[in-house]
Amino acid sequence: MKKVILVIVVLILILVIISYIFIIKNSKQISKENQQTMQVSTEAEKTDTQNYKNEDTIMNTTENIEKENNTSATENDKLNDWKIILVNSENPVPENYQIELADIDKTRKFDKRAINDLNNMILTMRNAGINNIWVQSAYRTIEYQQQLYDNSINKYLRQGNNQEQAQILTEKQLAKAGQSEHNLGLAVDFNYVDESFEKTKAFTWLKQYAQEYGFILRYSKEKENITKILYEPWHWRYVGQEHAKKINELDMCLEEYIEYIKK
Ligand SMILES: [Zn+2]
Repeated sequence: MKKVILVIVVLILILVIISYIFIIKNSKQISKENQQTMQVSTEAEKTDTQNYKNEDTIMNTTENIEKENNTSATENDKLNDWKIILVNSENPVPENYQIELADIDKTRKFDKRAINDLNNMILTMRNAGINNIWVQSAYRTIEYQQQLYDNSINKYLRQGNNQEQAQILTEKQLAKAGQSEHNLGLAVDFNYVDESFEKTKAFTWLKQYAQEYGFILRYSKEKENITKILYEPWHWRYVGQEHAKKINELDMCLEEYIEYIKK
């Protein structure tokens, strides 16, 4: 009996050993196959990554092209922006320039697109206790500008100047017809239109807050040599909030700012 049990045990052992060897052999092969599969898949991944990289490069290039296009589009948009249209002795109001005006009061008009900002600015000043503020001069027709110009020439001639002197004196203060921002409907003169305006609370307020409403002091003392217009504390030009803040931040006049945008 004992012998029989021993034989069975030995047989079982042999079976176990055989099956063990078989399992090990098999598992080795599986892992080898696995390794091979993994290698294949790694290569596939590599190719994928490369594909992605290529796509990325393509996408980046596309993006860059788009960006470049955008930049030039933005620059063009900025230069074509009605808010920063430049009018001075070298740049008259374009012949085809269309203006839609809105009433400030019974006699004064301003560009319809900017009048809300002007009204809000004056209202805020009054709410801040600055009541001594009014618009003396806003939009002028080219004919009216001509009339002002002729009147000024005559005044200087009467004072004993010759024609040339009268012209020089006039043009330091007054633009020729079609060369004034007032012909654009984007400029206002406040109060008595004289240098005493600089001493008012209104002027101090405007220096600080006008940019919030899109206005800039157009002819400052510091920029007389560029604007070719003597200091005018009463004359404020609408350029829109964004440009006004940027112009002040850069400490530029409109002529300089336009050159800056072009670059
Ligand atoms: Zn003016």
